[in-house]
Order: sequence, then C-alpha cells, then structure tokens
Amino acid sequence: MIAGSNGLATNQNLHLRIPSKSALCPRCTSSESQEHIFLLCPFAEAIWLGSELNEWSRNLPKASVRLFWNALVDRLAAQADKMNLLAKCVLLFWSIWRAQNALIFSDIDSDPMVVIQAAINFGIDFSAISNQQVRTRVRAECTAVWTPPPLHVFKINFDGAYLKESLEGVGACVVRDHTGRVSHSCARRFTNVTSPAMIKALALREAILLAHRIRLINPIFEGDAKTIIEAAGSDASAGGDCDVIIAYVSVLVIIALSLNTEIVIGWLMT
Ligand SMILES: [Zn+2]
Repeated sequence: MIAGSNGLATNQNLHLRIPSKSALCPRCTSSESQEHIFLLCPFAEAIWLGSELNEWSRNLPKASVRLFWNALVDRLAAQADKMNLLAKCVLLFWSIWRAQNALIFSDIDSDPMVVIQAAINFGIDFSAISNQQVRTRVRAECTAVWTPPPLHVFKINFDGAYLKESLEGVGACVVRDHTGRVSHSCARRFTNVTSPAMIKALALREAILLAHRIRLINPIFEGDAKTIIEAAGSDASAGGDCDVIIAYVSVLVIIALSLNTEIVIGWLMT
C-alpha cells in the first residue's frame, strides 16, 4: 500500500529516532503522522475537498491511510472507471507528499489548488504516455523455463513470498543480461500484506524501482502472477486490496521511469 506500512519519513517517525527533531506538522503544529499529512491536516482536507475525488473520499475513515484506502476501494467497487479514479487518488497522495517535502526542504508553501492542479497534470501526462508509448504489452504465452532476453536487453524476474500467519511477505527481483548473468538484485520485507497477490504486486513495484535506479532502458519484467501482470498493463481488476497496489504500480511506472518505450511483461508458469 502506498503508505500503509507507516514507513514514510514523517516528523512523527523521525522524532522517534531523533528526539531533537520536532514531531509536529510544519503547517498546523499537530503531530505529523502519515494520516495527518495525507488526510487530517487542514491543508490535506482542503485538497481532498477541492479535488474531483471529493465525492468519493467524503466521510471515509481517516484513522489510518490503510483504512481510508480500503474503504475507498470498497466504495468504488461498482464503478466502471474504478482504476482511473484509484490512479487519480494515488496521484493526489503523491502530490500532497511532494508539497509537504517542498515545505520542509525548500520552504515552499504550496496553495491547495496548486497541489490539485499538479496531480491533474501528472494524470494528463500519465494517460498521454500510457495511451501512446508505454502501453504495457502482456506476452501472449507463458513459458515453463527461464529464457534469456535478447542482446542488450535486461530481464527482471520478480517474485514474492507470503506468510499468512504474520501478514508478512518478502518481494525480490533479479536482473539478468542476455547471457543469464545476474547484474543486480534486491529483496525487501513488507508488513501488513493481506494476500499472496499483494506481495507479488509489491515485488513488481520493487522491480520497477530497481529498473529506475540502475537506469535500465526497455527492460522486460517477468513474474509468475498472471493476474497482477495483466492488471498492471490494463484497466482490468486483480480484485480486493490488490487494486490499490496495481493503481500505484501503474502510476509508479510513469513517475519512476520516464519511459517512452514499450515495456514487455511476461510471466513464468509455476
Ligand atoms: Zn498539519
């Protein structure tokens, strides 16, 4: 989830590690938790109120970002453009986070309407790119064995392991060149994971971020979660709380990678 694991560098979290750092919101001097930044701060409230998500976000629980998200997903369940609205929501979150950082690090105090417009502009760029150039192609057939990518292309395999008892999971990805040589890898532990599909989506997210970090051009992403991969490349729904992750992954592709090429996503048969 975008901020569901409470891992963001909020002032409240930083204060726990560095007591001299203020735990307060620089805008309103309430304690700066995740839910405060995104939902409860008068600044965030003004943004939600002025956004086109107002109708959908009104009266949702705000005790945590996770509760808010899950309630929003439920509320949008019957909407034909559910994925589009979820993506807009992610962009609003993203813009609020950027505005908070702009205030803390650059002393720029944004107007709520400017933040809303930034999210809209991001969305316009997002759909322009995704309609024209970044259309994620899902390979038609799956393979039983790993095959190397073509010359000069890197393939990133991703997978996730899920522990139902503790709601924990590990997402991992490995980058290989055309000879099969591993050039990079990463693994990350996640908490509050509610389904095996969710950890696979989070693993895909890590794979996209890794591709961005190491500046891969035109990489191939390959995993074994067909529904996740298909949903990431279309408006299809993977069901349940995965939709939130998928909306995030879809937007992340645009934000993290300034892509103007096609990504090929395939899957391995398991
Ligand atoms: Zn505040």
